[in-house]
Amino acid sequence: MYIASRNSRSLQFCEIVMADLLDIPQPADKKLPKPDWLRVRAPVSQGYKDTHALMRQQSLHTVCEEAACPNIGECWSKGHATVMILGDTCTRACAFCNIKTGVPNKVDPEEPHNLAVAVGKLGLKHVVITSVDRDDLEDGGANHFARSIEYIRTTAPDTTIEILTPDFRRKDGNLEIVVKARPDVFNHNIETVPRLYQRIRPGARYFHSLNLLKKVKEIDPSIFTKSGIMVGLGETKEEVLQVMDDFRSADIDFITIGQYLQPTPRHAPVDRYVTPDEFRYYERVAWTKGFTMVSASPLTRSSYHADADFARMRDERARRLAAQQPAPANDNC
Ligand code: SF4
Repeated sequence: MYIASRNSRSLQFCEIVMADLLDIPQPADKKLPKPDWLRVRAPVSQGYKDTHALMRQQSLHTVCEEAACPNIGECWSKGHATVMILGDTCTRACAFCNIKTGVPNKVDPEEPHNLAVAVGKLGLKHVVITSVDRDDLEDGGANHFARSIEYIRTTAPDTTIEILTPDFRRKDGNLEIVVKARPDVFNHNIETVPRLYQRIRPGARYFHSLNLLKKVKEIDPSIFTKSGIMVGLGETKEEVLQVMDDFRSADIDFITIGQYLQPTPRHAPVDRYVTPDEFRYYERVAWTKGFTMVSASPLTRSSYHADADFARMRDERARRLAAQQPAPANDNC
């Protein structure tokens, strides 16, 4: 279903119908008080203001703003913004996501260049690029991703690049275009456990998303793969552990687990706030399952601390590869 304008009455009607269709409980059903561990400071720093000004100057959209991310004050104070390419309007309507749904604008051909300029000005060691879903485009936006990577490689060759892509469902052959551009990290979020897909992520398929990440690794094993889920949507602990096993079967290097927050009363309600102790439990279990990198905490998001986590993941891979090398022969024996 496409929606033309977010301000129209028909939009409100569509949203209510969509909520019914997706079986999203309405706001009166449940409103849990937010626990202390999820309270964050208001964004006021000069770094935040500078990042904000640069994004507007370069006409860039960010998922930090569109998704109302709670970490924006911290990330932007350090110049860490996650740019959202391919416009600000998504062709899907996931029950957890605050990004506007409708008929997207034409792709801005200047966007890869503007993005590369912003990356250079911010002096980033590591950049994360994401996008809306563009089911309306024949290639799903794959060539635009590839061009964005190529521009950044030219203008900021020392910056490592992480992409967080849509699922390219029904866009066969286009994943390869993105992989060929050789991002350092290929991230695609699974978002939730398979049982909740129909309600939370109706336009996607759990095993399609898993296979996408598996395929990235098969095409180019040097690229790190990453994926994450939100908890607090109604999943069980056992289901989270099963997702971890599925990730390992798909050879995914890095798992992120964070608390789901309801962006507006129209979105899926929070089922529960997972405690910091439970997050620590998930983190411990994930390490035992063999991931190269794990981030599990209430405020974890795919791009939260992505630069530092990338450096740790690269070091960890190097350490594991070194440990697999045969020990040098001992001449004294
Ligand atoms: S966690 Fe990611 S989306 Fe949120 S503010 Fe930081 S960079 Fe932006």
